[in-house]
Amino acid sequence: MRSNVFLAMVILVLVISLLPGAIAGITSAADLNAPVTPDPQLFAISTGENMLLPGLPGTGNIITAYTSTDPATATKTKSLLVEQLLQGNEEFRKNVFNKDPERYQGLAQGQSPGILWIGCSDSRADPERITSSSPGEIFVTRNVGNIVSSHDWSLFAVVEYSINYLKVEEIVVVGHSDCGAIKAMDADLQDPYLTPWLNDAREAKTRVDARMLTPETPEEEKERSHQIERENVRLQVEHLMTYPSVRLAIDEGRIGVHGLYYDLETGSLSQVI
Ligand SMILES: [Zn+2]
Repeated sequence: MRSNVFLAMVILVLVISLLPGAIAGITSAADLNAPVTPDPQLFAISTGENMLLPGLPGTGNIITAYTSTDPATATKTKSLLVEQLLQGNEEFRKNVFNKDPERYQGLAQGQSPGILWIGCSDSRADPERITSSSPGEIFVTRNVGNIVSSHDWSLFAVVEYSINYLKVEEIVVVGHSDCGAIKAMDADLQDPYLTPWLNDAREAKTRVDARMLTPETPEEEKERSHQIERENVRLQVEHLMTYPSVRLAIDEGRIGVHGLYYDLETGSLSQVI
């Protein structure tokens, strides 16, 4: 009898302690789903002249972003950059998609890209744009410094999936000039995640510095950076060759592996390996 009373008291205490949180959760969820009250100024921007794309109208929608990770205290603000994406998509649908709907609806049924592209996340080195490729032709993964790491589950999965299921025929590791990752590595910047991530590229710098004289002019500095960027491509191809799925596919003649380098100043994509 005494244990039943004790159990009842425990349950009562739990209910009392959890109830306010549950109510708060319901309230904040309701707030998140509540209609956005248009800020007159923001509304004018989204429905009027597009400030980032002069001459184009806005989307008519309020674009919001939560400014806090806590939904209870988050305020909604407009993102012009996100609106620019949506506006750009409208342009794509109007000028590209809707002019060749059969092609794009065919892509909706599946993909069969011939190439896996392992590139840098740099915003200036878009694979499709710089190779005049179309959607469906290149399977893409990009990271800071186009690094093929020995402890990157994401890349392991991408490589395995693209070889075993998409049946890609070629894998390209692509570096580029003016690479921020190489600059960060060279400057030995200290960041919690960036620094250890770049460890897998440091050997490229070591190799180049071992064969080059210390640069003395801006031109020589630039040449050294280019050499490290290109050496990093070779290094990452070497890393890729250690992936079991890659080794097996190469041994069986199912794929080829290559290294490429994109020069931002000339727009030229050239073969390193
Ligand atoms: Zn880069």
